[in-house]
Amino acid sequence: MLINLNKSLNYSKKSRKLKNIKFLIIHYTGMQSTRVSLQRLKNPKSKVSCHYFITKNGVIYRMVEDNKVAWHAGKSKWKNKTNLNKYSLGIEIQNKGHQFGYEKFTKKQISALIQLLKILVKKYKIKKNNILGHSDVAPLRKIDPGENFPWKLLSKKGLALWYENFKFKKNRNKSKMKRKIFFRNIHKIGYRFFNSSKKSKNDNMVIKSFQRRFLPRDISGKITDKTFKISQLLARKSNLT
Ligand SMILES: [Zn+2]
Repeated sequence: MLINLNKSLNYSKKSRKLKNIKFLIIHYTGMQSTRVSLQRLKNPKSKVSCHYFITKNGVIYRMVEDNKVAWHAGKSKWKNKTNLNKYSLGIEIQNKGHQFGYEKFTKKQISALIQLLKILVKKYKIKKNNILGHSDVAPLRKIDPGENFPWKLLSKKGLALWYENFKFKKNRNKSKMKRKIFFRNIHKIGYRFFNSSKKSKNDNMVIKSFQRRFLPRDISGKITDKTFKISQLLARKSNLT
């Protein structure tokens, strides 16, 4: 697979051991064009970068070497890890994003991404539950790659966690209990930035982040019966992956 070089100097000086790479984090650039995105990812003043960048035509650029810590995730958590930059490779996909006109990802982008993920998973033995979106690890600040990102398709390729189809039944849990169980479930999956036994005004952002990933047609920020059920199925599965 052809990977072109387009270097950014926005990375931490200290190299890391390759065995510390445990996560692949997917972003959209949220910039008007590939040209503007690359400029920003290379500008020393922006202090952002990524390891791989995918254009709308499916061309892949390597911007930072894998053994360097690129600056893509910012303040972030997943399971027992904080500051995911240290443990991850960041992949930026060109898309104008919600601010400038959120687009469908192109077929070329997604097939290039799938090829790239397969290579990286094999090389670094990445678990499929550790292939994540920026919004998964920073749900209070970020919404990328967003609801157009094809997580279900990735899961079919063995590249993401997903749930089996289910028959929909009304849930009988009382809503207070439901909240607690829902947050316990997503804690088990890896989500952070909430407290399962204490309500917070930020809860709906975490719920939305979960929905953007697993129920992209229902981003209500409310724990609907479907949302709840999916959290149950995934929590059970996340033990195994
Ligand atoms: Zn991002």
